[in-house]
Order: sequence, then C-alpha cells, then structure tokens
Amino acid sequence: MILKLIYPKWRKLEMQTPFYLPPHAPVVFAAALPDDVEVQFVDENVDELNLDDNPDLVGLSVMLTAQLPSALRIAQHYRRRGIPVIAGGISTMLHREELMDHFDSVFVGEVEGRLEKVISDFRNGGLQPVYEYFLDYPEMDKIGPARRDILNYDRYIYRGIKMLDLIHASRGCRFNCFPCCTPYLGGRRFRPRPVERVVEEVQSIDNNRLFFVDNSLAQNKDWERELFSALIPLKKKWVSHPIENDPEILELAYKAGAWYVYQAVFDTSDFIRRRIKLYKDHGIGVEGTIILGTDDQDVDYIKRLVDFLMEIELDTAEFTIMTPFWHTPIRAQLEKEGRILSNDYNDYTCDRVVFQPKKMTPTQLQDMYYYAWETFYKEESQELKMGKLFFNVTKREMEDGTFKRVDLSPARRRRSVP
Ligand code: SF4
Repeated sequence: MILKLIYPKWRKLEMQTPFYLPPHAPVVFAAALPDDVEVQFVDENVDELNLDDNPDLVGLSVMLTAQLPSALRIAQHYRRRGIPVIAGGISTMLHREELMDHFDSVFVGEVEGRLEKVISDFRNGGLQPVYEYFLDYPEMDKIGPARRDILNYDRYIYRGIKMLDLIHASRGCRFNCFPCCTPYLGGRRFRPRPVERVVEEVQSIDNNRLFFVDNSLAQNKDWERELFSALIPLKKKWVSHPIENDPEILELAYKAGAWYVYQAVFDTSDFIRRRIKLYKDHGIGVEGTIILGTDDQDVDYIKRLVDFLMEIELDTAEFTIMTPFWHTPIRAQLEKEGRILSNDYNDYTCDRVVFQPKKMTPTQLQDMYYYAWETFYKEESQELKMGKLFFNVTKREMEDGTFKRVDLSPARRRRSVP
C-alpha cells in the first residue's frame, strides 16, 4: 500500500530571508504508521508536486492555517480522481468543522498507537470521516524515533549549510499565553517524553545541529536538569524555545549544547532586559520573536520597542503581526469585541493585519511591520546577523571536534533550494 504524504506549501513571512527546515510533523506521523505502508513524502515547499500519480491514499500534514488553501486544492484534485484523502496536523484540528466536507477523513489528535486502526479501516473499505482523539493523549513512551528516512535532505541546504534537524522532547504546555493555541491542542499539562528515549533519538540523528521544537523547555526544572545532563556527552548543538530563567539551568543548557533560543519579546521591561542578558552571559544566543499590534502598542511604542531590541543586542529578531489564530485567547477576545477583519486563511501568515488594532489603524500597523524589519536590520543584514550565530556554533564545534562539512557536490548543489 502506498501512502503519499504531502506537506502543503505556504507563503513565508514577507521581509524574512526565506529558508526551509525539514518538517517535523510528517516524520512523526510516518513513525506511527504500520511497517508495511510505503510512504512517499513530498514537501510542496521544496519539491515539485506531481498530482497525476496513483497512490492508494493521500495524507495531508497541515501545521499552519496558511497551508490550508494549498491542502484544499490538493485534496480536491485527488478526490476528483477517486483517490481518498485524509488530513491531520495542528490546523486540521483547529479547523475541523470547516474541513470535514473537503477531505474523506479528518484525524484529530496525536497519532501514536492510532494509525493501525486508520490503515486497517482503509484497507477494509471503511475509512471513517473523523478519527477523534482530541485531548486523548497517547502514553509518552509510545512516541518512537521520527522517520527521517522519508526526507530528501538535499532540499534542506541553504547556501552550503545543512539545515537543523527537528526533534521534540515533550508535548503540551502549562502556560496559556494570549496568542497561542498550544494549550487548547496539547492540554495545559506538560508531558515530557522519557529522557532515555529522547537521548536515543538524538544519538540516531546524523546531524550535529538540532532544533528542539518543544513549545517551551521552561516547564520543569528537574526535567530540564535531567535532560540537559543526559545531552552533554552527545556534544550536539541545538536551538530551542525558552529555557528556564535560572543561572544553574542555563549553565547546564550551554554545556548540553544550547546554541540559541527563540524568546518572545513584546515589551521593553527590565525583566526582558535581564532575561536576554542572562542567556547571553551564559553563551546562549537569542532570536527575539516579536509580536507587533498588541492592545498596549501604538506607533511610538513600536518605535521604542525596536530601539530597545537593538539596545539589548538581540542576535536576530523575527517580527510578526499579532494574528488571532482559531482557538487562541486573543481570538476569543477580538471576536467578542467585533475586531476580526479577515477570516481568509491566505491572510493568516503573520505578516498581514487581520484585526482592528486598538491604538493604530490597520495601515499604520502594517507600515510598522515594515519599519521594524527595516530598522532592526539597517546596520547589519539578516544574513550577516545569522552568519554570526553560525560562526559561534562552528567555533564551538571546532573546539570539541564535532564540526562536519556538508558534501556539496555539483549534483547536490543543483538540487538544493536556492
Ligand atoms: S506561547 Fe509557548 S509558553 Fe505560551 S502557551 Fe504557547 S507554547 Fe506555552
């Protein structure tokens, strides 16, 4: 049986240097399939998508709302030709009611231990319209190593640099931040994988540079201690979302290979100033994820915020416009106040204003988005700032003997993403 697994394309953030990481959800999905299913994976962002083939079943892995238009187009094409389509992933869960009519089957929830039934139903001609496992979580020790063998790694090289491999050590999040749907999807309960399983998986990845895609590592100090201590001997270097604001944990994280973190910044407080300094004092870089358009921001505030980011010497910054994704606290508030301006999935790329800001016009906010990118990167381009982060990690790898050159033979170079 051939399952064609497709990761639909979406428009990347305007103003950001485009690059592509190997996606994580499809390789986690593939790992949960029965062994006798042949997976043909296509990442539409980097591969050509042939829609004239004849797989037995098409699977769509839809992480982002902005992937939905492409997912719907692909599904329509295959279904017209009588090939059934099943969709899953974060955005499928967020939009399941709207999507039911567009796919033969919608999978809601986490996949481990559940796909045997889906495939058996399909083989017996009884694919269900919905597989509902919402808030019904699998045991964390059932999560096996991701099936990275389905990826075409030649596609994930940028200017001669092999992109990071993605991995996760936990699911869920105990916080409930206003722009985030993770607590809705993953439950407000932190669910770590057994550390020995994570270490096994890290060891098996043929890449010294990883990205822990966990929502936030700052969930439980004892767990962070255990995880980081176990990672130290592996000498990998990694990127992650926030790490605990604690000198002891940060020191351990650095020893375990912490390279830089994505840290949300949306105010100019001394707390943020100290938080960033503590990372940097421990040798850990910071990419700020900056949300523009919160209710306390006006044009002057955003100008001050950009000055502040330069003052605290963030290594890089990714600016986004606040976007009220479905099932987030901020969407509930804006809906109640009648401030949603667009429900077009194509606009939900985090670089378009889709709501009425409180202290600006939509046009002013859109202009401030461009202002923020242009001002922050005026003296030093994105490539240069990113290059410095890569220089730092290369230096560490040379010191501990883990540096590896990427084989870029002319044939491979031709196939890689420009
Ligand atoms: S933004 Fe991060 S820390 Fe906040 S709720 Fe979402 S996943 Fe948790």
